[in-house]
Amino acid sequence: MPRPRSTRRRRRRPFPRKKVCRFCADKKLKVDYREPQSLKYFITERGKIIPRRISGNCAQHQRQVCKAIKQARQIALLPYSESTI
Ligand SMILES: [Zn+2]
Repeated sequence: MPRPRSTRRRRRRPFPRKKVCRFCADKKLKVDYREPQSLKYFITERGKIIPRRISGNCAQHQRQVCKAIKQARQIALLPYSESTI
């Protein structure tokens, strides 16, 4: 007996947005843990780090961002978590 095919349909965006790593695009832009304003772009309002597939960063820069966010958290520039009430 063949298994019934899943009826769940996978939606595809008609025009996939071309994501480009902000740091590769702008050479002047630096990943710095002392700049929480720029790091805030890569965390959600809950304080979670945005994954690469969403942020569009390349692996190299995502790693730097991730590290910088964690450093910034240690010196309390960024929250570990934030309640949204
Ligand atoms: Zn990059």
